[in-house]
Amino acid sequence: MFEKVLEESHSWDFLPLLSNNKEKIAIGHCKLCSGIVIDKGKFYGCDQYLITNCSLSIPKKIAGRDISSVQIKKILETGTSSLIRGFKKSQKNDTFDAFLTWDNIEEKVKFSFEGYDRKLNSKK
Ligand SMILES: [Zn+2]
Repeated sequence: MFEKVLEESHSWDFLPLLSNNKEKIAIGHCKLCSGIVIDKGKFYGCDQYLITNCSLSIPKKIAGRDISSVQIKKILETGTSSLIRGFKKSQKNDTFDAFLTWDNIEEKVKFSFEGYDRKLNSKK
């Protein structure tokens, strides 16, 4: 059996080995293929990884903030999460709020401040 040998693996590449088919929880449809995005323990990834080598993966933690499966589901369905508060800035001991959006070109989740800035900085 695999036991927990791979538990501290530094690479995500081998983590799908750990996924238990019987405990798949579908989060939403994969952005890159016809697969289903599932909880893979330390991140959300595509269930077709082993078959198509699909590279979709979304970290569970971004900028020090845990990203809930509800937000991931929303990103997969609409392309954008709700406003998520409390991301940590890398330099200062400070936090910021942002949306997470799916970038079709880079094929990953990125920060977005669209809409949020408009509300805060209305100059008129
Ligand atoms: Zn996929």
